[in-house]
Amino acid sequence: MIVVPESAVAGLIDAQTAFAAVEAVFTAMAQDEARNFPVIREALGGGRQYGFKSGIDTAGQVMGVKSGGYFPGNAARGLINHQSVILLFDPETGRPTAMVGGNLLTALRTAAASAISIDRLARGDARVLGIVGAGHQAAFQLRAAARVRPWDRVIAWNYHPDMLPALGAVAADLGLPFEAVSLDGLRAADVVITITSSPAASVMAAHVSPGTHLACMGTDTKGKQEVDPALLAAATVFTDEVAQSVTIGEAQHAVGLGLLDAGAITPLGAVLTGAHPGRTRTDEITLFDGTGVALQDLAVAQAVVRAAQAAGLSTEVTL
Ligand code: NAD
Repeated sequence: MIVVPESAVAGLIDAQTAFAAVEAVFTAMAQDEARNFPVIREALGGGRQYGFKSGIDTAGQVMGVKSGGYFPGNAARGLINHQSVILLFDPETGRPTAMVGGNLLTALRTAAASAISIDRLARGDARVLGIVGAGHQAAFQLRAAARVRPWDRVIAWNYHPDMLPALGAVAADLGLPFEAVSLDGLRAADVVITITSSPAASVMAAHVSPGTHLACMGTDTKGKQEVDPALLAAATVFTDEVAQSVTIGEAQHAVGLGLLDAGAITPLGAVLTGAHPGRTRTDEITLFDGTGVALQDLAVAQAVVRAAQAAGLSTEVTL
């Protein structure tokens, strides 16, 4: 078994590789060559969550699991709140083949999914990027969005405003003007990324202009919520995987309230294969419900293992 510690991951993968790996696996899912197994994610109390996301990608010849969760007390201990590890197995024999640190990979694969949705679904003339959230993932989201579109400026709102200057520093690093706005101010955005651990909707329908693309990335567990269910009712809704979208994603609320039919939600992979046209009108609100699927984790972990092997940096452990 090859072991790639968290500390080595950054040197073995970049945002472009993560983007390509996630695009490939979303396509494989749409072609029924890859599937995610049911997610186990349990609340531990005190906002802590722990679980398992697993799946198999026949096209990519990989099977495995990401185990980890969200521990909101970590920041005060100098740790990031998300903690995880990814285990890969040979899909033919079941032999464990690799163990890879999952923290940076989670951020990269989540930002890649959001960026793919922006690339494919935002209007061609989108120039103002809105971000709701300013925690660990938000910086990765901003950097990934900057790779796929030319932004004139970034506007942002966060429940904890004191966290916004750190996100502003990322925008400055990218050479983008940055402004903290009220929720009403989000109406100026052409694309809005939401990436918070919020338990209730912050972004209401009145905060979003016609023609906006929303990438809702924070809701990955029952009970979390970032946007008004009325927005999902008004939008054309896309997701990474419908089964997760309606149970642990943002759509859990709109579907539960009877405002959205699960059958009306389209996997983003169908847009990648051309089976769905994506956006069809400039005034259409498109919304990507990014719940985070195991296959994203496996795809980026596999890319890291290949890079480690190619560079002669892999550490072999016999179990
Ligand atoms: P973080 O702890 O670093 O930041 C949390 C963010 O949520 C901050 O912006 C904070 O101000 C905001 N927030 C906290 N309490 C809030 C409240 N009551 N109302 C509104 N906002 C509140 O977390 P992170 O690592 O940046 O992750 C953000 C979210 O993204 C988490 O919910 C995490 O589980 C989720 N996530 C999703 C995926 C995916 O694939 N969809 C992947 C990774 C993380």
